[in-house]
Amino acid sequence: MKHQICVVGSGYVGLVTGACLAEIGHRVVCVDSDKDKLAALKAGKVPIYEPGLDKLLHRHRRSGALSFAASVAEGMKPAKGPRAEAVFIAVGTPPRPDGSADLSFVEAVAEEVARSLEGYTVVVDKSTVPVETGDWVQRTIDRFNKADVPFDVASNPEFLSEGTAVQDFLKPDRIVLGVPSHRAEALLRSIYAPIKAEVLVTDVKSAELIKHASNSFLATKISFINAVSILCEKTGADVSLVAKGMGLDRRIGPQFLRPGIGFGGFCFPKDLEAFHWIARKKGYDFALLKTVKDINEHQKDWVLRRVEEDLWNLGGKHAALLGLSFKPHTDDLRFAPSLEIIEKLRARRMRVSVHDPVAMPKAQEQLKGVRFAKDAYDAAKGADFLVLITEWPEYRDLDWARLKKLMRNPLILDGRNLYDPAQVRAAGFVYRGVGRP
Ligand code: NAD
Repeated sequence: MKHQICVVGSGYVGLVTGACLAEIGHRVVCVDSDKDKLAALKAGKVPIYEPGLDKLLHRHRRSGALSFAASVAEGMKPAKGPRAEAVFIAVGTPPRPDGSADLSFVEAVAEEVARSLEGYTVVVDKSTVPVETGDWVQRTIDRFNKADVPFDVASNPEFLSEGTAVQDFLKPDRIVLGVPSHRAEALLRSIYAPIKAEVLVTDVKSAELIKHASNSFLATKISFINAVSILCEKTGADVSLVAKGMGLDRRIGPQFLRPGIGFGGFCFPKDLEAFHWIARKKGYDFALLKTVKDINEHQKDWVLRRVEEDLWNLGGKHAALLGLSFKPHTDDLRFAPSLEIIEKLRARRMRVSVHDPVAMPKAQEQLKGVRFAKDAYDAAKGADFLVLITEWPEYRDLDWARLKKLMRNPLILDGRNLYDPAQVRAAGFVYRGVGRP
């Protein structure tokens, strides 16, 4: 059945949600308060890099299934078509300095929704929020819902990963519906009916907790293997083999057991912090989460630790970085480890050149004092070491002989264990991987 849906917040999650809901047959209005972003979207431009998203946006803009609006009021009651049966909130929930989630954007949307209610509506929180946010959204809407229009507040956490977001949305492992009523459940089940996935129906608080607990657990796996990699470096064991041996155990599984330079992005760091914060607020110090974060902070110093072992003094020497985004196939630089690493190298008075196939325009807005290279080879010119930060496919098969000629000193730091150490060493380089002998 076709539904009329309003998605508020047209960022990485909101745009993918809007485009995919249109793809499965609904009529969607995506709302955003950022005037430039909205103008770009209305003009047919896609403000973020996400594989497959542009195709869906163009297709459904043309068909009329997807449109854009500047206000929640307009999104909930479009000029053409019926009023929205469901409003998905997909605005940012950035971290505050104390680690808690800033929920002021969610509150602002809840108030706007309340003022535009005209008939029964399900207000669905898709943003990642701490447990009990649903209660606050309910109270906020109650306060401004002067005509006592019936509504329900539901939680439908989003598990997509940037880089594979469209696929993740359309073929998810599970759909979690945290609902307060059968009516809300029936509507959300109907909206998601075209997607073949296990649907888990819960109360609202459990759904909120599922999201924080899932992201924190994945972050824990990464920090765990990063800690093991340090022990490997100290003993001469090979973390790739240790991770393989662990991952073959079906109770553990191979995913998220890849050591590296630490996790970043708009989800794991802030969600871990916010989960720890809400647990403390509720009277429980979930200390494991603090340790996961500490291990990650320590791991972000891996580049500096390793390069000092080989190059002694860093001042005046030249670092070349491959990759800036926090992972491949996205232009997202939020909390990307690359930014912190560059800051630390610059603080040691190093010259820094960088390359990224997609994230350079965004990086140019915020990174000063670095050289933006046209490709990996240009970045490596005159470098004292080359470090792989993001495992983009174009960095997989480098011409090692060509690089060797271009660099001042043949040192490779493989921050993602992408390369075959024997092959790199055979080309005349000193090779350092994460937790590899
Ligand atoms: P984003 O910053 O890319 O997008 C948020 C958008 O909301 C922005 O375009 C902003 O202009 C808009 N906005 C803010 N206030 C508004 C308002 N009052 N009215 C209309 N628009 C408003 O953020 P994102 O990465 O899409 O994340 C959104 C939420 O989803 C966060 O809670 C995040 O934790 C969660 N999440 C993100 C991912 C991810 O991979 N990015 C995955 C799962 C969940």
